[in-house]
Amino acid sequence: MNASNQFFRCVLVILVSLMALVAPSGASAQGRLDPGWQYVNSSWYYGNADGSAKMGWLYDKSYSAWFYLDPAQQGKMLTGFYRDTTGSAFISKSNGALIEHSWVYLGSAWYYAKKGGYLATGWLWDPAYTAWFYLDRSTTKMVTGWLWDPNYNAWFYLGSNGAMYLGYHEIGGRGSSFATNGVWLGYENRKNASSTFVLVNKRNPFNPLQYTPSNLVWAGNYGIPVGGSNGYLRSDAASAMKTMYRDASAAGAGFSLVSGYRSYATQSGLYNGYVNAQGRAAADTFSARPGYSEHQTGLAADITSQGNLYTSFGNTWAGQWLAQNSWKYGFILRYPYGYEGVTGYMYEPWHFRYVGTATSTAMHRGGYTTYEQYLGQPAAPNY
Ligand SMILES: [Zn+2]
Repeated sequence: MNASNQFFRCVLVILVSLMALVAPSGASAQGRLDPGWQYVNSSWYYGNADGSAKMGWLYDKSYSAWFYLDPAQQGKMLTGFYRDTTGSAFISKSNGALIEHSWVYLGSAWYYAKKGGYLATGWLWDPAYTAWFYLDRSTTKMVTGWLWDPNYNAWFYLGSNGAMYLGYHEIGGRGSSFATNGVWLGYENRKNASSTFVLVNKRNPFNPLQYTPSNLVWAGNYGIPVGGSNGYLRSDAASAMKTMYRDASAAGAGFSLVSGYRSYATQSGLYNGYVNAQGRAAADTFSARPGYSEHQTGLAADITSQGNLYTSFGNTWAGQWLAQNSWKYGFILRYPYGYEGVTGYMYEPWHFRYVGTATSTAMHRGGYTTYEQYLGQPAAPNY
């Protein structure tokens, strides 16, 4: 430090000392501030070295955070929700530190602060929730309920937690279906036998009981090996299975279709045969009564790599590959292990049901194990 600097430093110390006598709070009567953070009239300000108030954005290393000093209010530090001079919206904590990379709950609304603290607007994918959210473009608040998005020219629905709906949901007592991109496809009914969303179990028989699907195809014509005479599937299920079979085969997890569509009459014969051999109580644990079998939808498929249906299929590579990947093609493992009390059936590692990729994706992301639970329907352990 040279003599000249020492002189100015002495003068500065004297000046600061004099200011301190006049204004013990850190600000002089002329509006000059001591350097650094100053608490004046219940608000925080930040003094520059020349005594003026810092305006705009300030990064404070000691807090590892950004602060906003409002130019419209002589540099007053802002907290809560505000907009800077560019119109961008932000939220700072009560200590002024800007919130980044986080959901924020403020004033009974949710917001999402991105990198740099910018509050998100529009669609937001949150990998932590594996779901899409929507932040209102003007208020930046998270939206729940129905949303019309003019960019897609479509309706969407955001659940009470903000997550965008996929697949089938009942809203206000009315069923609706949503595509894999969340677009509302229209009203649906899980009781509609020809819907990919139909729920068939011991409490939900077909209506009519002898329903027959109209668009059945022979799975062999889709390149799927068929073992047996029940190799028909609905065309939408067959198309999806064609792709699944191709990818499974490429992964060394090939399979064959043992039983797809079964008519009411076929199921009657099967079920009555089991009843005659093992009694009705035993038959009910593994065979559906006619009019109650998912196979009557044309959307259910018993598939195996073992030629026949064994529980050990679940331990094979093909069984494991299908259990882990079938959702990508719109299929779900319909009777998982340990859920007899919900589905009404013992573990069937071979029985897959086509529900469409929107529903299978929603179930996978949401961690739902059974279709009953996903639909919010009561367990169906018995008739
Ligand atoms: Zn089956």
